[in-house]
Amino acid sequence: MAQSTQEGPYVALPLSEVDPDALKVVRKLLANGHEAYLVGGCVRDLYLRRRPKDFDVATSATPESIRKTFRNSRIIGRRFKLAHVYFGTKVIETSTFRTTPITTNDDDLLITHDNEWGNIEDDARRRDFTINGLFYDIESDTIVDLVAGIPDLDRGVIRTIGDPLTRFQEDPVRMIRAVKFAARLDFTIEEETWRALLATVGDIDKCSRARLLEEVYKLLRGGAARRSFELLLESGLFPHVLPSFVELFDSRSGLGLVRPQRIPDEHEDLPRGYQPSRLLWALLDALDEYTLETRQIASNGVLLAILLAPIIDEDWLSAPRRDLDKTIDATMDALCNPLGVARRDRELARQILMAHRRMVETPGARRKRRPSLVQRQYFHDALVFLGIAVQARGEGGSEFAHWQRLAASATPMVEREGAGDDEDDGKRRRRRRGNRSRRGRQAGGDRAARSAGQR
Ligand code: ATP
Ligand code: MG
Repeated sequence: MAQSTQEGPYVALPLSEVDPDALKVVRKLLANGHEAYLVGGCVRDLYLRRRPKDFDVATSATPESIRKTFRNSRIIGRRFKLAHVYFGTKVIETSTFRTTPITTNDDDLLITHDNEWGNIEDDARRRDFTINGLFYDIESDTIVDLVAGIPDLDRGVIRTIGDPLTRFQEDPVRMIRAVKFAARLDFTIEEETWRALLATVGDIDKCSRARLLEEVYKLLRGGAARRSFELLLESGLFPHVLPSFVELFDSRSGLGLVRPQRIPDEHEDLPRGYQPSRLLWALLDALDEYTLETRQIASNGVLLAILLAPIIDEDWLSAPRRDLDKTIDATMDALCNPLGVARRDRELARQILMAHRRMVETPGARRKRRPSLVQRQYFHDALVFLGIAVQARGEGGSEFAHWQRLAASATPMVEREGAGDDEDDGKRRRRRRGNRSRRGRQAGGDRAARSAGQR
């Protein structure tokens, strides 16, 4: 592959893979006399021949100037001000070259404001990892590598730009990002970076709950949820990132979350304490398979249901409905309140779990009497969760196929607001604005059908 030089090696990235709107943004900025590059994750992913999740642009233009250049743009953020350029529902994040702010308090390196403009070199250095510090110049087909990111991409290494201890103290969320990239790309965390991470895990407690929760969702959605959770455990980040989950898990299993390698092999008589751990790892594996196979993103409700399932598993099928409702509510409170989970996501997780029980009940007249479940707003998510749970448990394929068939034959019907069936107890529910397209739903269903066929 290309050799790295400070000037930037000639590396033709597949521009056909670049979002045309991102190219439009770069070209227009260049035409207006600014410097402009594709930057960060998209350059990394194109170099690795992976499909980028999104495309970001870095430029010498200030946010105000970007705003003036694109009528379809808006300035966002306070802590970190940048412009969003809109193309329909798509957003191209366009940020001004900035420099790492100089902190005044020697004891606390935490960055609270990050709006000091700089040049491309400053902008490369303020980024988190060398593999994320690359710029792509579309005019010369050249990667501008000012942080020796290309050799790290070639070697498969996650390394902070600059002193890792400082970089983690400036922004502890970077530790979770290190885990995310190591897991997702199957890279190793470079030794000095890893040692600094081990020494700084406690700083996570300084991060806002909202940022932490978003990072947890990203870990779960990234297609490497299982490896991410293993790395969270290995590094000691886990109890800082998901304290309420750890507490609940401990009280449920007595052993805490046991690493997969330490779970005995027995399939029939696995000691009880290990069962929640085994189920969680299996659910995470199944979630990864879902993400990678369908290229769909599981909703936050599904992700929360996956975290909750191993904790309530034993009560699930045996408890009377009313008790189960209470157990789920109490467990939800204990898990979600400290993490600051949005009410909407939590409600969806509750609906998924309640629907799940109904969906896996013994086949028979009762289930057939209630195809109305298919018309529910949450049905798609419940079906996604069912597919993942069936895969994780290695049983329930016929139930899954049954619901899949019902879903396929159902005529779309607008759900009545608060129309109660016995799962909802007639509680009024706010309609969740689905952010998934019909095509997305269909694709999820297709995958579900394929999986049902395999089982
Ligand atoms: P993904 O594929 O998950 O989107 P990404 O690398 O694009 O990965 P983003 O969160 O989209 O990650 O951020 C875009 C870029 O912004 C990163 O590549 C990195 O250069 C920079 N960046 C993001 N978060 C931080 C941070 N906490 N500290 C320093 N730089 C960051
Ligand atoms: Mg990105």
